[in-house]
Amino acid sequence: MGPEGMAEFARALPKVELHAHLNGCVRGATLEELAREAGGAPAAAEVRAALAGPRDLRACFALFPLVHRFATTRAALARLVRESLADLAADGVVYAELRTTPKDRPEEGLSRRSYLEAVLRAMEEHNRSGRIGGAAGGRVHCEGRLIVSVDRRESADHALATVRLAVELAAETPLVVGVDLSGDPAVGEWSTWEPALLLAHAKGLPVTLHFAELPGRASEGRSMLAFAPERLGHAVRVDPALESELLATRIPVEVCLTSNLKTQSVATLGEHVCARLLRAGHPVALCTDDSGVFDTTLSAEFLMAAEAFGLSRRALFEFSLGSLEHAFLPEGLKESLRGHFLVAAARLGVATPGGDA
Ligand code: 5GP
Repeated sequence: MGPEGMAEFARALPKVELHAHLNGCVRGATLEELAREAGGAPAAAEVRAALAGPRDLRACFALFPLVHRFATTRAALARLVRESLADLAADGVVYAELRTTPKDRPEEGLSRRSYLEAVLRAMEEHNRSGRIGGAAGGRVHCEGRLIVSVDRRESADHALATVRLAVELAAETPLVVGVDLSGDPAVGEWSTWEPALLLAHAKGLPVTLHFAELPGRASEGRSMLAFAPERLGHAVRVDPALESELLATRIPVEVCLTSNLKTQSVATLGEHVCARLLRAGHPVALCTDDSGVFDTTLSAEFLMAAEAFGLSRRALFEFSLGSLEHAFLPEGLKESLRGHFLVAAARLGVATPGGDA
């Protein structure tokens, strides 16, 4: 099949997004509009210049504060959730776990709790517009869930407060499904956040950790593996010894190809850890990371993977279906989504494992 046929297939494929930072999903045009509303033409020009600039890891971590400056209001957060889930649905994503770091913004009347409540309210409204595993009027419905992020800049107490907030909200709504550790990988020490992440586990919340984003951090990586998170993000700078240890754990890895290329974490996809994980049969979920910041979509990630790793349509389908197994969802809801995949397999003309589509 030619590249166009494969691109079309990747778009039509039902997909599951497990690693997407809410503020990183912001559309460029939305960010510029929010900046113009807040600070007029100079603020809009500042955003345009930043969006036109480089995207290495340093530059990304300089861009996020700009997004936060203009997007941390109740109305903007609701808009980010609505637009992210609409963009994902338009790309054929049927289920998405968005993650975000709760932020205090007293001048906007936002506490960390009300920040998350604003996100959850918008997500709940969006979810009401469709049905998990279903389609509304021929449109794909993307069902949203929330992972609460602990930022590596947080102190031990702050991280504990973040996890307690996640636990409280998870008791109030099934939309909160887990806890993440993210933020600038050059900052902080694992021992600072470990007690908070242990609390998440003790309270039954699954945890995903940004892992091995920088070289020379094998000891932190080892501590993270020993913690036994439910998933890991990136794993892009594992040294050979850490890679063997990772393979032995079978912990699913959220792989973000465009993000890793643009941040120059890896020079080519041929040397990307994903190639070796797939060869070893290690569980992998393809993800976008920051679709707005890196100007990507999940179908673009699947197309890249197909081309770089020589995957057939059937292999892509199984790859996508496999991601669903790693979602932080109860079995009943996974089963509804599996049903959706099986119907799609027949439509897409791919044979399913054990099926004859
Ligand atoms: P937010 O949590 O504000 O909704 O999303 C943006 C935040 O996600 C950033 O400030 C950063 O903490 C985190 N983030 C986004 N992309 C990456 C990434 O590639 N690596 C790490 N470690 N953190 C990221």
